[in-house]
Amino acid sequence: MAKVAEEWLNICGGCEISILDLGETLLDLLPSLEFVHMPVLMDHKYFGQTGEKTELEIPEADVGLISGGIRNEKEKHVAEEMRKKCKTLVALGSCACFGGIPALANMYPKEELLETVYRDSKTTESNGIPSQDLPALTDKVYAVDEVVKVDVHLPGCPMNPATILEALTCLLEGKPFELPERSVCDDCPTKREEKSDVALKRPLQDAEFVPGEYDKMRCLNEQGILCLGPVTRSGCGKPYLEGEENVPRCIKGYMPCRGCFGPIRKGANPQVEMMSALSSIGLDAKLIEDRRAFLNRYIGGQNRLRPLPPKVRR
Ligand code: SF4
Ligand code: SF4
Ligand code: SF4
Repeated sequence: MAKVAEEWLNICGGCEISILDLGETLLDLLPSLEFVHMPVLMDHKYFGQTGEKTELEIPEADVGLISGGIRNEKEKHVAEEMRKKCKTLVALGSCACFGGIPALANMYPKEELLETVYRDSKTTESNGIPSQDLPALTDKVYAVDEVVKVDVHLPGCPMNPATILEALTCLLEGKPFELPERSVCDDCPTKREEKSDVALKRPLQDAEFVPGEYDKMRCLNEQGILCLGPVTRSGCGKPYLEGEENVPRCIKGYMPCRGCFGPIRKGANPQVEMMSALSSIGLDAKLIEDRRAFLNRYIGGQNRLRPLPPKVRR
């Protein structure tokens, strides 16, 4: 029986839903798992059930799962405690692996963000910045592995249940688990002509497609609809239910990949690689609005997004 602890840090809760999306398979796994800590499901308090303890306490576990990146001192403390108590630590989802959407905030200094939210916003009554009984914000949003050692990364916003199942099964059987170093394009069935003769389209403009016939749809980049498939790790389309096809999740909805699975390999530079992928089919990446945010939408932690001086930003 493997003991499992799960924690959610700077999150939306979607990664936890992805665990529940395992459905009946989760029931099959339950006899070999003992969840000893999981705030989304269990009322397990950090400082004892009645607040009687003075130290944060998370039970010991064989596998620790953390979703969400780190935005405040409490989350940092919890991540450190999880590392101390869990033999194997897994970063669940893109927020934990790379900072995720919240790390777009790393484009701005913390003080400027607080000013905007609590003082400058047109829809907010100008107010003080709350601090009483609240953990202090960290200087920026961190991916979990910037703060503690992470043994397994499971990216995705949220992750694919098939990947969670595979990773959990490997961990339970003591086998290594690694995602393949392939791109979303490698799994994409669309038709490619390796050139584009259209101008870049506005985000959310519809693609041309024949419903259900992915191999008849022309590659979205070639249609002028920016798709981060060339620089994003594959895996989101991995079939989970019987009869499912291995088609990347967004392509299945005739939408471009936004890069949630992160870089294809450690140390890759998706920003530079994407610009070269676009120029190879004749598109000018310099025309992308808000290029830094677009190319780092899910991966702004790990120092990929930093505040630029105000003059450059304007
Ligand atoms: S990775 Fe996506 S689904 Fe998971 S916590 Fe972050 S925003 Fe939510
Ligand atoms: S760029 Fe997008 S649409 Fe084109 S092949 Fe890659 S994943 Fe498919
Ligand atoms: S296609 Fe891209 S953005 Fe969509 S789920 Fe897959 S990796 Fe994420």
